[in-house]
Amino acid sequence: MSQFRIKCPSCGEVQDIPANGPCRKCSNALVLPEDGVIQIYRMGSPLGVAVGMSIYLNEVPLGHLANAEQIRIPVTYGHYKLHMTHGMNRKCKDAEFDITPENRFGFFKAHLKMGLITNTVVIEPSTADQMPQG
Ligand SMILES: [Zn+2]
Repeated sequence: MSQFRIKCPSCGEVQDIPANGPCRKCSNALVLPEDGVIQIYRMGSPLGVAVGMSIYLNEVPLGHLANAEQIRIPVTYGHYKLHMTHGMNRKCKDAEFDITPENRFGFFKAHLKMGLITNTVVIEPSTADQMPQG
């Protein structure tokens, strides 16, 4: 897993790239922030497997996360709110946190919590050793 999720500041295309390079859509140079990294793992589950979870970081849509998939989002220092949705489910237990020089990595696990009428995406803070390797 050596890819980073980034949204092109020029054309808005969300993509996974291994290093700084040209946007796959508009060819403008993409420069990965190097202050910190947010890593999100969607826990493998038989529930709603076919439906991607949509990721929103500070309201900015950052593509999808498939079942049992994980992504890394490079970021600058700052305050972040991580919100995710699953299909028509807009309910989410968000994660809110700061990326600082003392706390450069954010690890999160996401899973679906079944409800009687709607399901909720729950985002739990995690640690490096709880993330899947590879
Ligand atoms: Zn672009």
